[in-house]
Amino acid sequence: MEKYNIILLGPPGAGKGTHAEFLVRELGVEHISTGDMLRAAVAEGTALGRQAQTYMEAGALVPDEVVIGIVRERLLRSRPGRVLFDGFPRTPAQAEALEKVAEEVGLPRALVVYLQVSDEEVVARLSGRLQCRDCGAIFNRRYDDLEAGAKCPTCGGEVYQRDDDRPETIRRRLCAYREQTEPLIAYYRQRGQLVEVPAEGDTIENLAARVVAAVRERHS
Ligand code: ADP
Ligand code: ZN
Repeated sequence: MEKYNIILLGPPGAGKGTHAEFLVRELGVEHISTGDMLRAAVAEGTALGRQAQTYMEAGALVPDEVVIGIVRERLLRSRPGRVLFDGFPRTPAQAEALEKVAEEVGLPRALVVYLQVSDEEVVARLSGRLQCRDCGAIFNRRYDDLEAGAKCPTCGGEVYQRDDDRPETIRRRLCAYREQTEPLIAYYRQRGQLVEVPAEGDTIENLAARVVAAVRERHS
C-alpha cells in the first residue's frame, strides 16, 4: 500500500471520528485524535487537562502551543509509519508545526480529506450526538435508539452528551471553525493536497465507503 498520512478536515460534526474509525480499519494507519487526547487529559485531571478544559467547555480552540505539544510528544513517543490526524491541524500555525514535526519523525506527505457538510446538518448532528464514556463510540439520537444515560451497544459503558454539544457552545465552535480552521482548505488546495468529499445525505456506511474510495483513488 502507498505511503501517505491522512488529515481529516471539516466542521465540528462532519463525522471526523466516525470516518476515522473506518479509515483506520481499512488502511491500517495510526489514529491520532486531538479531541480524544484532550478529553482523556480532562478526565484524568492532569495539568494539561485542567488547562484545556476551560477552552473546550467554552467551545473555543485550545491554544496552539498546547495542542502542538501533545501531538509532537505522541509522534516522538510512538514513531508511527503512517498517521490519520483527526481534528488536527485546526489552525494555520498548527499546519506549519505539523510540517516540521512530520519531517523530524520521517512521516510521509499528507492527503487532506475535506468532509463537506452544510451548516444545518452540522447543528442537527451535534445537538443529537451521544458518545460512550468508555470506548468513545459515537451515536446519534436521530439514528440510534439511544438517550443520554443508556448503555453503549458496543461495550456496555455509559452513553452521554458532551458538554460542548449544547446549542450555545455549538454556535461558538462553528465560529471558531470558520475563523481559524476554514483557511486551511485554501492552504491545502493550493498545495495540491486536498480531496473534497461530500459527507451528508446517505448512510454512514455509504459515506464512509466513499471517503475510503476517494483516498484510494488519489493514490492508485
Ligand atoms: P469536534 O470536531 O466535533 O469539535 P473534537 O473532538 O475534534 O470535536 O474537538 C473537541 C474540542 O477539543 C474542540 O472544540 C477544541 O476545544 C479542542 N480541540 C481538539 N482538537 C484541537 C486542535 N487541533 N486545536 C485546538 N483545539 C482542539
Ligand atoms: Zn462503549
